[in-house]
Amino acid sequence: MNDFNDNSYFKLFNQQRQNQFAIGNSSSKERIRKLDQLQRAIEVTYRKEIQSALYKDLGKPVVETELTEIYAIVGDIKHAKKKLKQWMQKQSVDTPISMLGSSSYIKYEPKGVCLIISPWNFPFNLTFGPLVSAIAAGNTAIIKPSEMTPHSSVLMEKIVSEVFSEDEVALIQGEVEVSTELLKLPFNHIFFTGSPKVGKIVMEAASQHLASVTLELGGKSPTIVDKTANIDKAAKKIMWAKFLNCGQICVSPDYVLIDESVKASFITSCIKWLNTFYSDNPKASDSYGKIVTDKHFERLSSYLENAKSLDAKFEIGGSTESTSKYIEPTIISDLKPEAKLLEEEIFGPILPIVTYKSLDMAMAYINSKPRPLALYIYSKSKASIKKIMNNTRAGGTCINNSVLHYANHNLPFGGVNNSGIGKSHGFYGFKAFSNERSVLKQHTFGVTELLFPPYTNMKEKLAR
Ligand code: NAD
Repeated sequence: MNDFNDNSYFKLFNQQRQNQFAIGNSSSKERIRKLDQLQRAIEVTYRKEIQSALYKDLGKPVVETELTEIYAIVGDIKHAKKKLKQWMQKQSVDTPISMLGSSSYIKYEPKGVCLIISPWNFPFNLTFGPLVSAIAAGNTAIIKPSEMTPHSSVLMEKIVSEVFSEDEVALIQGEVEVSTELLKLPFNHIFFTGSPKVGKIVMEAASQHLASVTLELGGKSPTIVDKTANIDKAAKKIMWAKFLNCGQICVSPDYVLIDESVKASFITSCIKWLNTFYSDNPKASDSYGKIVTDKHFERLSSYLENAKSLDAKFEIGGSTESTSKYIEPTIISDLKPEAKLLEEEIFGPILPIVTYKSLDMAMAYINSKPRPLALYIYSKSKASIKKIMNNTRAGGTCINNSVLHYANHNLPFGGVNNSGIGKSHGFYGFKAFSNERSVLKQHTFGVTELLFPPYTNMKEKLAR
């Protein structure tokens, strides 16, 4: 399936389209059997190969792979298997008295043939996560993973072809032009994870067929640390969340907004925790990753150069090595508003610190930018937390922690506007891949019988 040939894509699409009702009418038991097979491939058969592919692509430490890729997908699968029967059940709803004699329910039916386009930062998690929801909801799917993590993409193709027949799930490798060709096909649903820039291209392509979309995008996720926060604990959690996967996480704390009175102690704590996590030589640490490609390394290096040229203060870090695509964990303060680090999504191991004098100023700063995927609040003040929650908007929030809301299957995951459209995970993922079909069933004589023409008698009644 690797050759670029749009006819072969159309043929594959058609095979899946023809198979969609057979797949769609599968029972919960049959879907669970497929999820079992996928789980076995990830958890047992290919576990070591997944670790090795991710090490080659991203220098990902094995423990991080276990936690953020294998454990994460296996968790998704287990949750779906446990809940699937319940999710698939028709949901009865009330019927108004004016429709006496009938009953109503919602049937979750599969959308049909779906396209899943995924990014490189958590290749397995962000490809198989949506796939679990697609299978649970009874869809067929074509997957286009990222070209930036080739070892992972090749392994995923192997897993997919072993677990599924092509007319149910197929994986196609390729770059932008492959995505572009696939996006011309009349998919019933497109699930895209990636940048807001490409999200707009996907949405435009989807509009040609009015395909529904789930867009899981990115952006700048702020972290507010107020003066009541436990500064040392906040620093520890933020350092972990920011430098996990080398900052290449959609829900990574992009920048910290901190009350100016606690900035110095926060930075002291951050440096202490960075040394504890990665030693004073992070390059040699087996807990620290690398930047995915030369292009991203150069992008991040240019942000550092830009900050230097604007006389920003490097609190720690700043060194880079192009051969190993290494960027030291870096914290920068005193940035001018026009600095690239404050304009672009960073998606790397550089943390800008911005100070504020009042919470209102911090919220105004956040609200002057597009709505973020995540917003984190570190505070002990219930009043401050309430104020922030009521006067900002974000896809998700952790209070006194970062990133973890992503891992709770019971919470919908997704952004708002520029950071995304639609939700995923658990039941919300199942819903994203389902059409909520409204059904009204007439049982006996209904009041509506009185509404048939001719309207002569009715007009008289209404005039009275
Ligand atoms: P990207 O948008 O560059 O690429 C994502 C996918 O789209 C890849 O498979 C790529 O091949 C394809 N693609 C790229 N250009 C395309 C085009 N012009 N037309 C069609 N397809 C195209 O994103 P990325 O660099 O892989 O990932 C980083 C971005 O993804 C960041 O913005 C990050 O915040 C976001 N992200 C979001 C989530 C989330 O769950 N919300 C998760 C991970 C990453």
